[in-house]
Parts: sequence; structure tokens; C-alpha cells
Amino acid sequence: MRRNKIEPLQSILNAREQRALLKSKIAGKGYQCVSLSLNVPGFPKSNPSVYYFFKYCLQDLQFTLKSHLVELHNIEAIERCDAAGDFFVTPFTADKLGIIELKQICENFEESHPLGRFIDVDVNDEKGNCISSGKSKLCFYCQVKPAIECRREQAHEMVQLRSLMFSNMRDYCNRQRESLLSKQLASLALKALLYEISLTPKPGLVDRLSNGSHADMNFLTFADSSAAISLYFEELVQAGFAFQDEGYIRALPIIRNIGLRMEAAMFRATGNINTHKGLIFLMGLTLFSCGKLYSSLNQFDPEYFRSIVRDICRDIVKRELKDSKPSNSTHGLTVFQSSGFSGARGEAEGGFRTVFEIGLPYLTKENQLNDTALTQCFLAIASQNMDTNILFRGGQDALKAFQKLCKAALENFTDSNYLEVAEFCRNENISPGGSADLLALSIFFWSVMKFESPFFISPLIQSYDI
Ligand SMILES: [Zn+2]
Repeated sequence: MRRNKIEPLQSILNAREQRALLKSKIAGKGYQCVSLSLNVPGFPKSNPSVYYFFKYCLQDLQFTLKSHLVELHNIEAIERCDAAGDFFVTPFTADKLGIIELKQICENFEESHPLGRFIDVDVNDEKGNCISSGKSKLCFYCQVKPAIECRREQAHEMVQLRSLMFSNMRDYCNRQRESLLSKQLASLALKALLYEISLTPKPGLVDRLSNGSHADMNFLTFADSSAAISLYFEELVQAGFAFQDEGYIRALPIIRNIGLRMEAAMFRATGNINTHKGLIFLMGLTLFSCGKLYSSLNQFDPEYFRSIVRDICRDIVKRELKDSKPSNSTHGLTVFQSSGFSGARGEAEGGFRTVFEIGLPYLTKENQLNDTALTQCFLAIASQNMDTNILFRGGQDALKAFQKLCKAALENFTDSNYLEVAEFCRNENISPGGSADLLALSIFFWSVMKFESPFFISPLIQSYDI
């Protein structure tokens, strides 16, 4: 539809008039007000890039003002998008600050923002007067002349102005999204570790009240180790976001590189005790693959996630266990050479089959995690997982008997049946550490699927209209 050129201009003027009216109404009640808008040249003045950029600015501005003890009267706040673009206004009280100081805070906010020249924060006093600092902003396009001059002279092509602005806003939103998602996924990973170690009682494993079949570690050793390795969780997600290579197999050295630093941090924190080596591999792979997934999707998709993990770990059992020299001996390799079981590598190569198909269904039906659901999830995993920790310490007969007890305890879930599993682990001096790792992963995926961010996070923005 061809638009009459006068029509948007008139509607923009009308919208601006409405905004002025809103501000004078606030002044009429005796309040000062602060408002946020964006300098978007041309028309229309909003699109998804502009809108989400505005939402981030608004969130940041609100935290900035509150951090200076400015009380925003949110009930009377107005947020809208009209012909003049996205707009927010709210009355406020600031007992400790004069209005000039408040204006200075808003100016600092604009100046310190990487795209501050797109942002307008206005402050009006209780009489409705706009507080001006008299400073002029540089044109964001040429960065030479004052913006007002370039606008008056129509110095730049509208299409170029808008294109530069929208691509900057889109990139800013996508970077913010990546940073917030990385932090929040890292937090969910740490939560999964804390839930797993806190689940009490657990057969053979360290929990809050027992060291299980471990003489050299306790609950606090795991607290130390969890804190030490969690430092790298965010980096793993970001590495997944940044990974552009189509050969997914080339992701493994990147994940291992971070994983090795996590191992060093773990050993330093625990006095050389291996608490989380298997988990570091599995969670490293998981967080990296989450980053890769969220670089193109807005929602967690289990099937797509599993395909990423499978692609990264294609033939890993053959390459790292079957064709490996015995001199590189690890628990996993020793067990593989004596029994043919592939442990964490096999689970990864299969796209976490035990987690998604066996353990996780016991959690997904819950709206809140609880000890019963977590214990059943653990038993389901343990009854089928070829746990290399048990194989290493107890051999195949012990593993078979252990799995059978777990299956019976799951089918007839009573305290005494569950305690029987614990007693067996104590007598055999075995610990299902591999299954505990898969429980932690199940908790993580449950959290990711139920996750609601406490902060605004924009969706992925791929294109924009000029
Ligand atoms: Zn200019």
C-alpha cells in the first residue's frame, strides 16, 4: 500500500503531542518524571531490532536509577509504541538527589552506553519543565558534526542512516542475548551439580550425610570442586556460540582445552582428588552444545541438541578407546580394554541416550524437583548405565547385581528396597559415579526446559527491514 507522505508526519507529531500531554499530567500531580525514547530517523520508527534494543535500554536505565536510590512509580509508568516510536515515561521521587544530579546520572547513562547516541533520556521537573544540559550530541553516522546539524542539512541518505542504526541495534541485542543466556546456562549447570551432590541418601556416593564408598572425599570436597569448575561454565557456552565450523568434530579440542583447565582447577581445589573428571567432559560437551544450539534457535530442542552432541562425538569411542595406546591409560580406557564398555564417551557418542530416554522422563513430569523424583531418575539411570566406575572397582558381576537391585528398587519404590542398594554398594565398596554424572545432566536439562529468565532476553534477530 502506498502511503501518503503527510500521513506519518502528522501521526508522528500527534504522538509527540500525546507524550507531552502525559508528562504535563504527571507534573499536574506534583511529580518529576523521567522518559526514554530513541532517535530513529525516518519512518516507521520501530521494528524488532529497535523494539528489543529499547527493552534492553529500559531495563538498564531502571537498574541505573534504582542503584542511585531513585524510586520509580511503576504503577503509573507508561510504556508504548506509537508513530513516534518506542516510549517509556514514569514519575519518580528521589529524596537524596537534586534534579540536576539526576539529569547528570541520565547523561552519564547515555554517554557510557555503547550505542548511547541512539538513546534519549529526558528528565522533567515537577512543573513539567524539561531539564536540559545544553550539550549537543555528535551525529552517529559521520561522527564529525553535531547530530542536529546533519539532520538540518539532510547530510546523509536516510536508507544509509537507518541501515547502520538497525544493524548496530540488531548486533547489540544479539550480543546481549548471548551474554545473558551464557550466564544463565552456567547458573543452571552449577545448580544441577548442587542438586546432585545434595540428594541424600545415595547408594555408594558422597551425599550430605555420608562419604559412601569414598575414603578420600566428602560433601565439602564436592562443594570445593563445584565452585572451582563452575568458573568455566560461561566460557563453554560462549565457545559454542562462537563456533562456526561445519566440521563439528573440530569442536572437541576446543571443549577439551577448557576442560583441562577445569580439571586443573578441580585438582587444586580438592588437594588432587578426582571428584568431577567425568562430569567435566559431559557438562563441557553439554554447555558448548547449548551455546551452538542457541546461536540459531530460541528454544531448547532436545532432538537438535542430541544431534549436535552426536556430531561432535562421532566415532569418539573408536578414535579414543579402540585405537588408543595403553600408555595413555585412564579409568575409562582400562575398563574399555577389559570389558568393552565405553563409559562417558559412549554415552556422548549416542547423544546422551541414557539421560534423555531413561532418566529425564522421571523428572519432566514434575513442576518442581523433589527427592523422590530425583531418586527415581537416579535408579532408572543406574539400572541401565554401564557405569565404568563400578566396573573399575567391582567388575562385571558386581555391576550386573547392582543394576538388578536398582531395577527392583525402582519398580517397587520403598525405603527398604532403596537401602538395600546402598548396603550392596557398601559391602562391595563400589560407587556409581558415572550414573551420578548422568543424574546431574538430567537435572540440568530439566532446568533448561523449565527455564524462565528473571531478566528480559531478546529473541535471536536475524534480519531487519530498512
Ligand atoms: Zn553526520
